Amino acid sequence: MSATVDSVQGFSPVPQSQWPDASKAKNCQMDACRKSFGLMGKGSNCYGCGRVCCSACLSQSMVIPGFVTSPSRPVCSYCAVAIAQAWEEQSNAAMRCRVLQHILTEQTSQLEELTQKSSSLRDENEALLGVKRKLEVDIELLKMESSTSMRSHNNEASPPQLQRSASMITKFASPTTTTGSSVDASASPQDLAKKKTQLDIREASLNEAKKKIAADNAKLVKERERVAEEESWILQELQGKAQVILHDHLVDLKALAIAQIEKDTAELHEQLRQLLSSKESPAPNAQHEKELKALQKNHIAEIKTL
Ligand SMILES: [Zn+2]
Ligand SMILES: [Zn+2]
Repeated sequence: MSATVDSVQGFSPVPQSQWPDASKAKNCQMDACRKSFGLMGKGSNCYGCGRVCCSACLSQSMVIPGFVTSPSRPVCSYCAVAIAQAWEEQSNAAMRCRVLQHILTEQTSQLEELTQKSSSLRDENEALLGVKRKLEVDIELLKMESSTSMRSHNNEASPPQLQRSASMITKFASPTTTTGSSVDASASPQDLAKKKTQLDIREASLNEAKKKIAADNAKLVKERERVAEEESWILQELQGKAQVILHDHLVDLKALAIAQIEKDTAELHEQLRQLLSSKESPAPNAQHEKELKALQKNHIAEIKTL
C-alpha cells in the first residue's frame, strides 16, 4: 500500500500555524485525561489535530496524510483512529482502481477480438458474394445453352461452384458471443466510468455490426440455395429438351433416309428396265425384281431399327 497519493480523503491535519502554544498549556487537552503539567512537565501537540497532550496520550505514532514523505509522528487517540480509517479507505480505493483497470484491459482485448472477427466475417462475406456472382454467370450460360439447345444430352457435369459454396456455408457457424463483465460504475472514479461508458458504446455498435453481417450472410445462403435450385432445374429442362430434339431429328432422318432409298431403288429399277429393253431382251426377269424388292425391304428395316 505505497501511498502515491499525497493527501487522503476524510482526514486533513490541522496546519502547524494553527496549533495552540504547547508551552502555555497547563493541562493535557484530552477530555478523558486532563492531567496537569505542573512546573516541570510540559505537553506536546498532536500532529493531527494540534491538541496539546501529555506523553501518555501521545503514545501512538503515524504517518500523517498529506506528509507521506515524512516519518511517523505522535498523534492523540482520536486522530489515530481517524487516520487509520482514512488510510484504510485509500487502500480500498486503490484496490478498486486496480480491479477496474483489470476489467478495462480485459474489455479492450475483447473489443480487439471482436474487431478481428468482424473483419474476417466481412472477408468471408466478400468471398460469398464472389461465389454468388460466378453462379449467376453459370446460370446465364446455361440459359444460353438451353436456348440454342442443339447439344448432346451428356451435359451432366455439375458445376464445381456448388460444392465450393456449400463448404463455405459451414464456415458460417454462429459466432461465439463474448459477454462483458459488469462493473459497479458508481464505485469507480469519474474517468474510469467515462472510459467504461465509451467501451460499452463501442461494444454495442460492434454487436450491431455483427448482427448486420450475420443477417447478410443468412440472405446470401438463401440466395445461393435459390440459385442452386434454379440451376438444377435448368439442367433437367436442358436434358429433357435435348432428348426430345434428338428423337425428333432421328425420326426425321429415318424418314428422309427411307424416302431416299425408295427413290434410289426406283431409279435403279428404271435403269435396269431400260438396259434390259435396249438389249432387246424379253421383259425383266421376275427373279431379279424379287431380289431387288427384298433388298429394298432390308434397307428400310435396317434404317428403322436405328
Ligand atoms: Zn489529535
Ligand atoms: Zn493526557
